[in-house]
Amino acid sequence: NKIIKEIKVNNVEIKLVSGDITIEETDAIVNAANSHLQHGGGVAGVIARKGGSDVQKESNEYIKKYGKVETGNVAVTTGGKLKCKYIIHAVGPIWRGGSEQEEKLLYDAVINSLKKAEELKLNSISLPAISAGIYGYPIEKAVPVYKKAVYDFINTNPQFLKEIRFVVYDEEHYDYFLKEF
Ligand code: ADP
Repeated sequence: NKIIKEIKVNNVEIKLVSGDITIEETDAIVNAANSHLQHGGGVAGVIARKGGSDVQKESNEYIKKYGKVETGNVAVTTGGKLKCKYIIHAVGPIWRGGSEQEEKLLYDAVINSLKKAEELKLNSISLPAISAGIYGYPIEKAVPVYKKAVYDFINTNPQFLKEIRFVVYDEEHYDYFLKEF
């Protein structure tokens, strides 16, 4: 994947990269999951296919044990056959026009992913454009929320997480990321 922009905030590197999140070699990748962790379409489908059957199997075990993942929360599985150690499955909100707490729920999905990575003592993480695909969150509204969550997280002075990468898959998304960061 190609780095399109790199910035350093406090001691943390934020990198915008173009390409496919499933080939990232960070300690964790974030999946844009649904509450039932059924990884059918979108980025989730690609992650589950390339990760092999363990990813869906572990997801099913998680749901059986803990129940569904509420919007804004995360669940963790191994990376299966992917290069990453973990997949952090983050559930973003479905866009319903903006008056259903979508902004807070998207913020939670991002910051909870970062907090989980820190809790697991990981050094690096890659995130996709959560909610900005099938879930319909307008990209121009989503990117400022991603940024706020990342900056707020960095302001907690993480000890472990030193590299946060956004993997931009849709070419139409590049400009929004570049302008915001
Ligand atoms: P959601 O249901 O949260 O909207 P989607 O999977 O539909 O999740 O889309 C989230 C984002 O992931 C979209 O912007 C889409 O372009 C992007 N995406 C799709 N495939 C990949 C991939 N292989 N790597 C990174 N991002 C991807």
